Amino acid sequence: MADNAQLDHLAALLRQADQIVVLTGAGISTESGIPDFRGPQGLWTKDPSAERKATIQHYVSDPEHRRDVWRNRAAGGERFGGHPNAGHTALADLERRAHLHTLVTQNVDGLHQAAGTSPDIVIEIHGTVNEAKCLTCGWRGPMEDTLARVRAGEDDPACLECGGMLKSATISFGENLVPADLDRAQRAAAGADVFLAVGTSLGVYPAAALPEIALRNGAVLAVLNAEETPFDGVAEYVLRDRLGEVLPELVGRI
Ligand SMILES: [Zn+2]
Repeated sequence: MADNAQLDHLAALLRQADQIVVLTGAGISTESGIPDFRGPQGLWTKDPSAERKATIQHYVSDPEHRRDVWRNRAAGGERFGGHPNAGHTALADLERRAHLHTLVTQNVDGLHQAAGTSPDIVIEIHGTVNEAKCLTCGWRGPMEDTLARVRAGEDDPACLECGGMLKSATISFGENLVPADLDRAQRAAAGADVFLAVGTSLGVYPAAALPEIALRNGAVLAVLNAEETPFDGVAEYVLRDRLGEVLPELVGRI
């Protein structure tokens, strides 16, 4: 565990901060049993063909693949099924104890909101598995509504608004991020006085640009991650502890 003096200092900074911005990555959800796709033990690291299948081009061009995806999802096979862990709960608590302005997450599992973080301060920069979206008109709705159609017999359900192709509201490889989300995340980072990077390798742009923007604008950077990140050298705090242990310990001191 990080030493007490370090945790006390960081907690004091958080207490005094006017604008805290948190970025979370796969590391916070692996403790809920949700697989990491890109990490050293990640699904895509071990099986590059799985990564190819996760591209938007593959999804759009292969109806057989889409039917597999929908069938599997409707059967609960792709359901993440994880519950928020102590790390998610501590970040929800951070919002109550200090000025948490924005929580940007690279995760698509919805566990921050499930833990109690206000949905309006969460930016899901890689989208969410809990909604479906239309690739043509941009319609979005609860994933469960579309899955009900699949269970009722539609093997590749089309958008009810425009007839376009539906997909989970995650950002696949080859798909652009939502510009408004990215813009909002960057503006939050620019105004941050403390920036916490939690459970992210900070290796994937544009999410990795956020701590850069925060630093450039004078924020204090704390990196909480099990493995090294490219930002460790410029971070004021680097904590390598299990997030489910260190986050409650830290937030409890605010
Ligand atoms: Zn549509």
